[in-house]
Amino acid sequence: MRVEHVLTTCPYCGTGCRFYLQVVDGRLVGVVPCKTDEISQGRLCIKGYNAHAFVQHPERLTHPMVREGGQLRRATWDEALDRVVSEVRRISAENGPDSVVVLASAKCTNEENYLFQKLARAAIGTNNVDHCARLCHASTVAGLLMSFGSGAMTNTIPEFERADCVLVTGSNTLEAHPIIGARILRAYDRGAKVIVVDPRDTPLSRIAYSALHQQPGTDIAWINGMIRVIIEEGLHDEAFINERTSGFEELRRTVEPYTPEKVQEITQIPKEKLIDAARTYANAERAMIAYAMGVTQHSNGTNIVRALANLAMVTGNIGRESTGVNPLRGQCNVQGACDAGGLPDLYPGYQRVEDAEARRKFEAAWGKALPPTKGTTLTCAVKDALTGKVKAMVIFGENPMLSDPDLAHVQEAMEELEFLAVAEIFPTDTTRLADVVLPGACYAEKDGTFTSTDRAIRPVHKAVDPPGEARPDWEIACELGRRLGAQGFDFRSPSDVMDEMAKLAPQYGGVSHERADRQVLRWPCPNKEHAGTPVLHVGGFKMGRGVLVPVDHAPPAEETSEEYPLILTTGRNLFHFHTGTMTRRSPKLEREAPSPYVEVSPVDAKRLGLSHGDRVRVASRRGEITLEARVTGWIMPGVVFIPFHYAEAAANRLTNPALDPVAKIPEFKVCAVRMEKA
Ligand code: SF4
Repeated sequence: MRVEHVLTTCPYCGTGCRFYLQVVDGRLVGVVPCKTDEISQGRLCIKGYNAHAFVQHPERLTHPMVREGGQLRRATWDEALDRVVSEVRRISAENGPDSVVVLASAKCTNEENYLFQKLARAAIGTNNVDHCARLCHASTVAGLLMSFGSGAMTNTIPEFERADCVLVTGSNTLEAHPIIGARILRAYDRGAKVIVVDPRDTPLSRIAYSALHQQPGTDIAWINGMIRVIIEEGLHDEAFINERTSGFEELRRTVEPYTPEKVQEITQIPKEKLIDAARTYANAERAMIAYAMGVTQHSNGTNIVRALANLAMVTGNIGRESTGVNPLRGQCNVQGACDAGGLPDLYPGYQRVEDAEARRKFEAAWGKALPPTKGTTLTCAVKDALTGKVKAMVIFGENPMLSDPDLAHVQEAMEELEFLAVAEIFPTDTTRLADVVLPGACYAEKDGTFTSTDRAIRPVHKAVDPPGEARPDWEIACELGRRLGAQGFDFRSPSDVMDEMAKLAPQYGGVSHERADRQVLRWPCPNKEHAGTPVLHVGGFKMGRGVLVPVDHAPPAEETSEEYPLILTTGRNLFHFHTGTMTRRSPKLEREAPSPYVEVSPVDAKRLGLSHGDRVRVASRRGEITLEARVTGWIMPGVVFIPFHYAEAAANRLTNPALDPVAKIPEFKVCAVRMEKA
């Protein structure tokens, strides 16, 4: 028996671990870690070890389908693609191109995302292109762009290991990003002080030097409180502040009211613990901040990100090794989908669509006049579908029917559309509503690149053929572009697509498939001689000075009441990923975590007369679900937690669609609920 080994990149979280897919007679049989990979160093988490398991699942979509007489029926590729093109053309002619929305995908490659946004802009004529970064880290992109001039992780994954202090907030790192969590554990073994701020206990908070449990929705208060302690005790870095930042005096005035006593009142964090955390972070020679969706998914998520940037800048913890502000991106290519321009206001390389010079550059390259105003976001598109402003959606690899907040409204919006096309690898709640379904190839069946959370361009290589008639999304996007009559969709390979993207996105100027296969390139990598940039903002910020943006605490959009007395927060578990499309079809992962549950503290369980394992009904102002109660001391009284992977008890039936005004990200992390025995 001959076993072939194909080196590729994990399709799950944004860590970007590389591994070998094992192939026997054209079928995947296993995964072997890659010992020489700088990121994973021969380690994988359980999801990585099972990343082959869903690929050949019998439920894969294998042929195109079109809706006829209310039912989806099998179709040829020509028929399905022509239906998409004729409907997009008709709706665009009748209502203007802005009545069409394209959703790109954090699960697709950089090259595919580049083509999705080009399809929207150059072939359809709209900037209405967005993807699920809107639901996870849009506030990171907006917040860090304003503070530092770049919206990405400032440092690299290996650097965690060499930090003296790691402040982790809103991230269950050991379960959601286990290989990054392992780096933090190694820093801990070396003596680094790990501080975790989270409403729940997590495996990392259990071993941390200090665990601070804040009331959900009070992050700005504790961050401002730490900054106040640091300034009051003279622990700030005056030289750094004077030479490299602006806005310090205003920040000092803004944080002044956030005394430890006041912060304790707002957050429930004991004042002594806050003071100690502030001293520990500020006194460390090299302190890193890591955060994830517990920070970003709030109606003031952009301001929380800015507050963390302030904390790093006042202590000079930026622009050096093992420091910085480090958003841990959730999906394998959410960083790359943003880089490639899958955003309604930004072309590839974060060039603004409203900047005339940038627009002229893309018009010249694509041979087409481009719309001058920014498009609508994913979250606003759902609302616009309800009012009839948006009439068609072309979705690549996203499942808004499970991932978006307030699902009852999302379903109404999807049903209001005149036309919905979805390219997917499995049937989902979204494909079930589609007029056309296009079967896509998964990561193991195509070439391309992902960009990891630390800006490293990670090659993806084809190991097996797609099932049936399924095709890679880059081919589907090219077919649609050509059939819509646009130029510049005649690519022969993903490598050619990357070459075009490298010409237009300055950060990727020196990136090619051939180079990415040979070495770890982290953007900015402006030319072919450049080796990439591990640490951002060394010696200066892109826009000159870093901006200290004063931000104030504001209560969450929805507070508890007599009727809804508990706060629901959502997140992941170790075994599943996002909406579960892939992991729930991986037998070993599904065996470990087969059903939905809600975590509740012993205090609340006693008050509600609940025992571990009881079936309970959880209801918010938007809907209700029934699931199993898990009574655990890992969650603070007054708060309950539900993982969002399970369609049969979708947490997003409950969540609040209130949006951050800047990033338009919904407040997934705080909503008021009640719970009772079912
Ligand atoms: Fe895959 Fe993330 Fe696990 Fe690495 S840590 S194996 S990238 S899921």
